[in-house]
Amino acid sequence: MDEELERYVTALFAREDRALQDARTGHEAADLPAIHVSPLEGAILEVLLRAVGARTVLEIGTLGGYSGVWLARALGAGGKLVTLEADPAHAAYARRTFAQAGVQDRVTIKEGNALALLPDLSGPFDAVFLDADKAPLPDYFAEAMRLLRVGGLLLCDNTFLHGKVVGGDAVDPDVAGMRKFNELAAHDPRLVSAVIPVRDGLLTAVKVGS
Ligand code: SAH
Ligand code: MG
Repeated sequence: MDEELERYVTALFAREDRALQDARTGHEAADLPAIHVSPLEGAILEVLLRAVGARTVLEIGTLGGYSGVWLARALGAGGKLVTLEADPAHAAYARRTFAQAGVQDRVTIKEGNALALLPDLSGPFDAVFLDADKAPLPDYFAEAMRLLRVGGLLLCDNTFLHGKVVGGDAVDPDVAGMRKFNELAAHDPRLVSAVIPVRDGLLTAVKVGS
């Protein structure tokens, strides 16, 4: 997106309060990679979750909790965000983020490798947001489909993989995982899918059948 246009719509539609702004701008000082969703993408996540009346959401890849705050707030009081994170330093930062944003009561951070944690989870979830490592995305797809209710949302960040889904090295496990995931999401008869071309691409799908 043109930078000036992105600034324009972000200022109008993706306003951050102090907690969101501090969480986002604090990544670098805390040695976290600044690979969180953009404010506009956060606002889009919130609109999508509210559109399906989501009360429960599963996130894979917490980082510092920036996307998690948008997700948790979209659920309203009494909602439940379960978010999986492998790196203890990221989880610790996220815990502070959720407390500062006042959503700690509706968030459970599960620390560990998502591939190991997912089989122990039971659904149904109203939405699943995939935003961790890319090589295992075909496995995350299968688990997400198991955990999602019919009518629920499958969301996945980095559809474009910074441009590498086209012309990238097919033996790169991240490229292979992302491409395979995109093909699964595009062709699965249980899903109606599209991509919102915000930032690095956001796969957006509704589970229409079991
Ligand atoms: N959703 C976050 C950004 C996530 S960045 C936001 O927008 O604010 C990706 C995160 O996934 C990193 O914190 C990384 O540590 C975590 N991660 C990577 N591989 C993982 C795995 N196999 N299991 C759990 N977390 C993982
Ligand atoms: Mg991402």
